[in-house]
Amino acid sequence: MIRHFGLRPVLCLLVIIVSSIVTVAQIKPARNPNQPIDEEYTRKLREYTTEPFFNSPLTDYLPASPNVPTPSVVLGDIAGAPGKLPYAEEVYRYMRLLEKATPRVKVYSIGTTEEGREMIAVAVASEKLLARLDENRAQLTKLADPRTINLNDDEADKLVAASFPIYYITGTIHSTETGAPTALMELAYRLAVDDSAYIRNIRDNMVVLITPVVEVDGRNRMVDVYNWHLAHPNENWPSLVYWGHYVAHDNNRDAIGLSLKLTHNIMNTFLGWKAQVLHDLHESVPYLYDNTIGDGPYNAWVDPILTDEWQMIGWNNVSEMTKFGMPGVFAHGNFDTWSPGYLMFIAATHNGISRLYETFGNAGADTVERTLSPADYQRTWYKQNPPLPRAKWSQRNNNNYEQSALLTTLFYFSNNNKLFLKNFYLKSKRSIEKPKNEGPAAYVFPARDPRLGNQAELLRTLQAQGCEIHRATAPFTVAIKSKKGADRKDAAKPQPATSPTPATKSSDQPRTVGPEAPAAESKGSEKKTEEREFPAGSYIVRMNQPYSRIADALLDYQYWSPSDPQQDIYDDTAWTMGELGNVEVVRVTDLKALSTPADLVQGEVKSPGGITGSGTVYLINHAADNNLMTLRYQLRDAAVDAAEEPFAAAGHNFNRGSFIIRKVEADALKRIASELGIQVYAVESAPSVKSHPVRTARIAFMHTWLSTQDEGWWRLAFDKQQVPYTYISTQDVAKDAALREKFDVIVFAPVGRGANAIVSGLPMYGNPLPWKTTTLTPNLGRIDSTDDMRPGLGWTGLMNLQKFVQGGGVFITVDDTTEVAVANGFSPGVSIQRAQRLKAIGDILRMKTVDAASPIAYGYGDSLAMYCMNGPIFNLSNMVGGRGGRQRAGQRTTGRGTPDDPDIPQGRPLSEAPEPPHNEVWEAAPISDEQRRNNGGIIPPDQRPRVVLRYADNKDLFVSGLLDGGDEIAQHPAVIDAPYGMGHVVLFSTNPMWRGQTKGSYFLVFNAILNFDNLNAGRKLDAK
Ligand SMILES: [Zn+2]
Repeated sequence: MIRHFGLRPVLCLLVIIVSSIVTVAQIKPARNPNQPIDEEYTRKLREYTTEPFFNSPLTDYLPASPNVPTPSVVLGDIAGAPGKLPYAEEVYRYMRLLEKATPRVKVYSIGTTEEGREMIAVAVASEKLLARLDENRAQLTKLADPRTINLNDDEADKLVAASFPIYYITGTIHSTETGAPTALMELAYRLAVDDSAYIRNIRDNMVVLITPVVEVDGRNRMVDVYNWHLAHPNENWPSLVYWGHYVAHDNNRDAIGLSLKLTHNIMNTFLGWKAQVLHDLHESVPYLYDNTIGDGPYNAWVDPILTDEWQMIGWNNVSEMTKFGMPGVFAHGNFDTWSPGYLMFIAATHNGISRLYETFGNAGADTVERTLSPADYQRTWYKQNPPLPRAKWSQRNNNNYEQSALLTTLFYFSNNNKLFLKNFYLKSKRSIEKPKNEGPAAYVFPARDPRLGNQAELLRTLQAQGCEIHRATAPFTVAIKSKKGADRKDAAKPQPATSPTPATKSSDQPRTVGPEAPAAESKGSEKKTEEREFPAGSYIVRMNQPYSRIADALLDYQYWSPSDPQQDIYDDTAWTMGELGNVEVVRVTDLKALSTPADLVQGEVKSPGGITGSGTVYLINHAADNNLMTLRYQLRDAAVDAAEEPFAAAGHNFNRGSFIIRKVEADALKRIASELGIQVYAVESAPSVKSHPVRTARIAFMHTWLSTQDEGWWRLAFDKQQVPYTYISTQDVAKDAALREKFDVIVFAPVGRGANAIVSGLPMYGNPLPWKTTTLTPNLGRIDSTDDMRPGLGWTGLMNLQKFVQGGGVFITVDDTTEVAVANGFSPGVSIQRAQRLKAIGDILRMKTVDAASPIAYGYGDSLAMYCMNGPIFNLSNMVGGRGGRQRAGQRTTGRGTPDDPDIPQGRPLSEAPEPPHNEVWEAAPISDEQRRNNGGIIPPDQRPRVVLRYADNKDLFVSGLLDGGDEIAQHPAVIDAPYGMGHVVLFSTNPMWRGQTKGSYFLVFNAILNFDNLNAGRKLDAK
């Protein structure tokens, strides 16, 4: 019965589906013969296309319009024309001309860049849809947050039926990838003007939202560089040393830490529009790589519905382009889809669909004969119609591919607009249902974390990600994963999993698991959980919210198996934000965490700050909260001392390094402390504890002209903390023999090119490469400038640096810049061992504090998780030129006795061998009496390198990500303070300032700066 009555509606539905399929199938990718074409524009686009098969029936003509201007009104030529790269403002001018000329285009300002340039988003759809934008947004808002409709699927279906989706396209995040802006100008025109059934189908069924230039600062500099090249056709042109204001390609790794304005602006636009897709346009490999499907391992926190959508859209795209006869279109490839740091992942982690194209470009608008490498043109299983080994390539070809691919995808999306809207709802609903499915229920940030400032900072990042944060109004108790055998103090801190390195691989080895076990795992098993009470004021990130996936992805631990089939790792393997922020984050699977008394935090999370008590001496505990650095520089005139030992005062315990402040206006201190969220205790008299002054060091920040990518993250960290510095280049240092008179500290962040290149600079063949502001290049030279980028630090630069350190300066080096110090004798006793097996690919490793009395360690506990990218393996020696490392235990030779016995020469009295000296891996071997004889190379005790932090023992080393061969770096020094003359060289094997994610380790650098003239404090010297 039921079946009988149900049959008719099913049949009706089938008829509707079949008829709609027929309708869609009838739509050919072809122009409307009744619409005239723009003859001149079409002629040129065919002329600039180097082969007919580098174009498609979608873009091999341009429809004419009596009132809508084509891109040529702004460009003076067609989109993709040789020799034409528009500035962002020209692109915007065109988009606004479109907006004036047609009701199918609307332009929105979406924020500004670091350098104050505007970013825009352009909406294109039929006038009918654009008139309904507000109503549609209200409906999408409900689909995006199904709590508003009580997770009611029927209600969702009604909303889906009444709504249309938003497909967001972003261009030119990477400044050297130049094709997207003109492609997107022309795409907007086509979508608004073209009357073919194909294009009408798109604009009638969805809104295409376009940000034509994401990295606006860098785009304008790239246009400058290109124009310089056009004006100097026979010369080498300067490379784009500054893409954006801070970083280069890493602006596409900021979707985790959200440090850059462009990421915030795109995030807010994506979330504000409740968009379904974020499709980011890039250029690298030929000719069009739809890389979203990529390769494994996939990010472990996204919804499988999404990964299916990647496949559906990606393969449709390849299939359609293949039918056009366009070579070199493929999906899969070598991009692993693990890290959530890419801009497009804003969509993946917020219930949308991430998409990305790599098209082929010439880094400019020259037409060039390009010869490919076999890896690019050979056929593979996923590239059945590969690119040609050799072909002339033009910017117009690039624009054809980019637009044809986008149009086929938009057409597919418009045909399936309801499916993708329904999926959007389902993904949002499943995010809200996360606690009772895969879990966890919540992450808890306990009140009374020693670093409430860094805790608030991490919570603000989550808020910027769109996450809701609750704050407990009463103490609450939930079950958490039990830490058997660990004491209470250890139980409070998540412990890392042990490394499965070959050297220690053992299936029966006990493992301490950092993250909580999922709900299913803890169910039914005994003693796996224990109760933990969290105080009132603790923050709770509950997973029953639409954007739970990003919170889970950022706060959870990562595990990349060393035996994963994917050995070609694309990017960082770990980003666990609690560990990198040095903030306690507890993963809770107990569903009670959803109903404990708590309020939703309104506005930004802020740590408490202000002054309590009375008196004219002020105390601030040093817990390595970054705002303490900001405070010091804001209180320039105050007398600040750092305690060299822990002390108690005003009923509180204070760590080493705590500030004792005198001669300060109480009102100013109160205002700053409250703004920065720092707790100050006023007391009548200073505690009697050994202390030294904390002066506001004069900081120079040294960069090269080779690359500013990694130092950009350091510069950004300094700017965010409002730490003033003078920005100098290696060329300035080469010219300045009086550095010590100007600066106390020189910071030399990683360069990524090695010590030799830093000294040599770029090859001096050919012409000078200027980087400066001129009428031809108005956007260059504003961050720093030079007449010629080629010269490096040089020998005189090394001499000047040496003089600086010997005269009492502090030189801070990291990763490859440590080589400059080690190779040139600035850090006697430190050597770097070549790694043989170590594979620490952007992972998080555990450090142990070796010397807590070193000012560099102030505010830290006995262990710290740090970011590591195959850092240099340091060894120490007490002799100049010594290679260091642990003394190899001598294997006994063949002879009498058991393996543990000494051999005994026969026929003479017994002569016992002295006990060989023992030293730990992070220590230098003691000097033997033999070495001491007439040895001028013995480093005096007060000049020996001092190890502040070391890598943990191998079993404790791994925290998150991929680690293989960890025994090779385990226990070796990680942070070294090497005295040199009157000054110091500080060497980091780990990178303490990376991508705005490692805020827990920033203060190691700040400590070195604040204590620049007292780094020897608390130092114990060897007896001899
Ligand atoms: Zn790119």
